[in-house]
Amino acid sequence: MRAVQVVGYHRPVEFADVPDPVVTHPLDAVVRIAGAGICRTDLHILEGELDAAFHPALPYTLGHENAGYVTAVGDAVDGLAVGDPVIVHPAVTCGWCAACRSGATMHCPTWRFPGVDGWGGGYADYMLTSARSLVKLGPRTDPADVAPHADAGLTAIHAIKRLAPFLGPRSTVALIGFGGLGHLAVQLLRIYTTARVVVVDASPERLKWAEAYAPDGVAEDVAGLPPVDAVLDLVGEHGVPQEAFAALRKGGVYAVVGYGGDLRLELLDMINRELTVLGNQIGTHSELAELMTLADQGRIRLETRRFPLDDVAHALAEVAAGRVLGRAVLVP
Ligand SMILES: [Zn+2]
Ligand SMILES: [Zn+2]
Repeated sequence: MRAVQVVGYHRPVEFADVPDPVVTHPLDAVVRIAGAGICRTDLHILEGELDAAFHPALPYTLGHENAGYVTAVGDAVDGLAVGDPVIVHPAVTCGWCAACRSGATMHCPTWRFPGVDGWGGGYADYMLTSARSLVKLGPRTDPADVAPHADAGLTAIHAIKRLAPFLGPRSTVALIGFGGLGHLAVQLLRIYTTARVVVVDASPERLKWAEAYAPDGVAEDVAGLPPVDAVLDLVGEHGVPQEAFAALRKGGVYAVVGYGGDLRLELLDMINRELTVLGNQIGTHSELAELMTLADQGRIRLETRRFPLDDVAHALAEVAAGRVLGRAVLVP
């Protein structure tokens, strides 16, 4: 099958002809990819920024925002059949440890992260995963339409559900970075919280796009805002974290999803302002299932731009240049 691989850092991706994945474990599943979302993490991977965290062996196939159709399952799999449309939770986990049993699957000490840690991802015709990672889609849902929910939507719902207990109708949240994740986050903030939402983005074009989602305000820069109760930082670099942290009111919460930069915490300031920091990494299987219910009910809109898998180089360049509003999806 075709697969798009990272072959070295600071180098373009390359096509490879690799063997089709096959079921070997009784809980394995093979998915024919209908759509694979492009995440900024894929760009970070190509720059070598995730090497220290995941030390993957190169080359391997990118893609951790996947959806498609089941083509094979192991003997022990119940409730999933060949042909079922599915979205793929980005983690493959053991199912037995305390973290897995509590539902916090991304804390599983032996978890794997296809498309990121060296396990082949979904920039390909097929991928191997665990049947436990799959969420069955409604029969009317085209998997390519929802693929980015596997990571962009999942991370947004997870971060917002963690942030929600801190927020009430008098709270204001600054949502920083209006892109693939941001346009989902503004809708999820409306569903899960009563807070006012101010969208912050340095790009006037993106702020104009944001107006279609009726935020309570827009701003080009968080530093220009009055103090806010919470920040949802989807950028996490270019000095944004420090500015966002400074913009918090006493008792405020800094919830972070974007990365690449850093944040210097002065502990006396943190104590005096009683600040909370929430780091967020993907989300749980049940959060993905909940998100798919919202999508099925038509309560959350995901904007995508499709690219044929063969045009992956062009698609990555468009994402890197910030020219994709919404999420880019590769279609094999
Ligand atoms: Zn991602
Ligand atoms: Zn586990």
